[in-house]
Amino acid sequence: MDKEVFDFFNTDLQFIHGVGPVLASKFNDVLGGRRVLDFLLHIPSYVRPREILDSVMEAKAGDTITISVMVKSHKRGGVFKGRRRPSQIVCADKLSAPLTIQFFNVKFLDYWMEKLPIGSWRIVSGKLDFSNRDGAIINHPDFIETPENATKIPAHQAIYPSGEGLTQKTFSNVRDQIFKIIHERINANNTSENLLEFLDALEHVHYPESNDDLAPNSTFVAKLAYCELFAHQSAIAINRNLRKAQVNMRQLRAKKYDLINKFYESLPFKLTSAQQRAIDEIFADFARPVPMMRLVQGDVGSGKTMVACGAMIKMAETGAQSVLLAPTDTLAQQHFAKIKPLCDKFGLVCDVLTGRDKGVARREKLISLKSGRTKIAIGTHALFSEDVIYKDLGLVVIDEQHRFGVAQRTAMRSKGNNPDMLALSATPIPRTLSMTVYGDMDVSIINEKPAGRLPIKTTKLPMERAKALIERIAPQIKNGAKVFWVCPLVEESENIDMTAAQSRFEELNKYFPGSGLCHGQMDKKARDKVMEEFADENSKMRVLVSTTVIEVGIDVPSATIMVIENAERFGLAALHQLRGRVGRGSKQSYCILLYGNNISPDGLKRLDVLCETEDGFVIAEQDLMMRGVGELLGTKQSGWIQYYFVNYREHRDLFKLAQSASMDDNIAKNNWAKQLRAIFDCSTIAGA
Ligand code: ADP
Ligand code: MG
Repeated sequence: MDKEVFDFFNTDLQFIHGVGPVLASKFNDVLGGRRVLDFLLHIPSYVRPREILDSVMEAKAGDTITISVMVKSHKRGGVFKGRRRPSQIVCADKLSAPLTIQFFNVKFLDYWMEKLPIGSWRIVSGKLDFSNRDGAIINHPDFIETPENATKIPAHQAIYPSGEGLTQKTFSNVRDQIFKIIHERINANNTSENLLEFLDALEHVHYPESNDDLAPNSTFVAKLAYCELFAHQSAIAINRNLRKAQVNMRQLRAKKYDLINKFYESLPFKLTSAQQRAIDEIFADFARPVPMMRLVQGDVGSGKTMVACGAMIKMAETGAQSVLLAPTDTLAQQHFAKIKPLCDKFGLVCDVLTGRDKGVARREKLISLKSGRTKIAIGTHALFSEDVIYKDLGLVVIDEQHRFGVAQRTAMRSKGNNPDMLALSATPIPRTLSMTVYGDMDVSIINEKPAGRLPIKTTKLPMERAKALIERIAPQIKNGAKVFWVCPLVEESENIDMTAAQSRFEELNKYFPGSGLCHGQMDKKARDKVMEEFADENSKMRVLVSTTVIEVGIDVPSATIMVIENAERFGLAALHQLRGRVGRGSKQSYCILLYGNNISPDGLKRLDVLCETEDGFVIAEQDLMMRGVGELLGTKQSGWIQYYFVNYREHRDLFKLAQSASMDDNIAKNNWAKQLRAIFDCSTIAGA
């Protein structure tokens, strides 16, 4: 039965022979889970061949070699004149070239002397080093075998991506144990064909014979990638079918108010035709009895908020309520500042609710929501706190939707009775991917900027020119221009990251006193405060130095200069996002990409893409081709999907295949699809 295999998949690794709780938790750190399945989904990154060489002279330092040698002498190590010396087994290869095997743990020398008796031939395998004093050395070989047992050294060793405290040997031991048990549990008559094939592909990638077996286009990896895509697509299909079975009739109610035309008239500008089209698509969804599930995708500054505003006002016409959920306090306050005055014009009650609201003021807001008086609520996570009750929540708008996890979106949605859902996103996702990333959502694209916006002038400059740049922007700053100055993640460490921004801040503050600094080590309140001061038209703060923590959606129309240091360290999509923070007013804006002197020719070409186009889709496509899905979408934590086996470039055709396979009406009942959904944990699929 398949069940036995699946039970084994879900077994904690600590129950595997030789593992135990300590190792299991180390595995947990590396694998992101501690089940047998987590191990199986973690595949080797490459294969290390271990062909037997005749002489060390065929190899260079750093190579991992396997070689037959004859033991010449033993030198016991220890502490000599205050210096530690390793124990050494001096050997010679077939061509009589010397090779020394070293052990630092002197205690075990007797054991090694027994394993490597003088005059005997041995096959040893390990990383080759050279020292001036001793010549060729292998420290602590990975393998030592007699010639008769040479086959015990794998001819191809799979090397797993590892972490602290886990050796390759541990990986291969655990792998061997796991596949041994799998073979015991498989019963050819009883185990389904699909599962057998899946296990077979897994076994091939865990016991690769060459790097080709691990390449995305190998039969085995492609098979696994297809399974993964099919799991996701079938989860999406099921969500779609569930949603289509729900009803939502709010728009069929008699209109209580007549607001939408007043909304159009009250705008100080004309909507772009792309905005109008998105609004029309939303209204058409509203008119259907099935709840809406739509994504509005458009670059920063394309005017998504106004589209959302139109949708919320249309919802208010029926008497139902809307929420606009933003990822941060600052963004929520900004949306509120913009939308509230519009609502005031036609007597629509609009309120803001964030974690800052406390006590009596908060209670009053909640009462107004519960009574249905507040028609539009803008806020953060506070909007779906347990004690917040809505009279009739008809529409949920989620800004920067990937910043919210599925659980949070579900919590928000469950505050209403099958409300319509509208997601906003500034991350352009190429078409092939959108179905997997956005799941079941319909997509409206805003590919047009509001009239009167000038293209952002983008240039690249070597880092040495930073000083000249500062002098060049000084007069503009005097005339009121605001500058974002972004410092990159220098290392994986927040601390170093902060220091870079800190010292840049100190330097710029000499030129432009009253500059601001904002980085990830500051607490949220302090960060919000700096950001708000910078956004305030009247504040003296002209330059904001920050790490990439500055908010994606932040709107500072007077910011016209964006400087990005070490631009080569960012993905194109990220650079494009950062750039989008300027160019929001009617003045000419500039983006300057500073690059370090170790930039590669490819790196320069990447920056050129940015200098040449502002089309987010072109940029996203380029980024995807150059860096792959993982880089474009970030980590699992960010709410995007992260794949185990799928590779965007190599598996494009599989996307389509998996999509059409999932269109089958019986997908919910298909046992294999169900098993795959469990394997690839599809609980985080968008639209769920
Ligand atoms: P997004 O959320 O897509 O980044 P916003 O909705 O914040 O963009 O819009 C950016 C700015 O453009 C806002 O100040 C907004 O008032 C303004 N804006 C929106 N639509 C138009 C339009 N059709 N014409 C002129 N300005 C607009
Ligand atoms: Mg926005």
